[in-house]
Amino acid sequence: MALMITDECINCDMCLPECPNEAISEGKKVYEIEPTRCTECVGFYPAPTCIAVCPIHCVKPDPMHMETQTQLLEKFNQLNIVSK
Ligand code: SF4
Ligand code: SF4
Repeated sequence: MALMITDECINCDMCLPECPNEAISEGKKVYEIEPTRCTECVGFYPAPTCIAVCPIHCVKPDPMHMETQTQLLEKFNQLNIVSK
């Protein structure tokens, strides 16, 4: 599934440059993850890098965007085809 950033985010900017899919952006209030671009880092890393770098652990699974590993891999392939 895609991940989401909760309102506890302190806008520290640690996660944004680390996302390999450019799925993270500065939101109106806190940083946001674009679910159509988040593959949970599938295709790049063994685990979500935004979770690893967030100092306050405010990146969580997004229950509104449940996806299987296969679907995440398909999304990764689609994003790579589009960006080529
Ligand atoms: S899990 Fe990976 S792809 Fe998704 S927002 Fe975090 S860093 Fe980006
Ligand atoms: S690393 Fe965590 S606290 Fe910092 S901007 Fe990203 S989500 Fe917010």
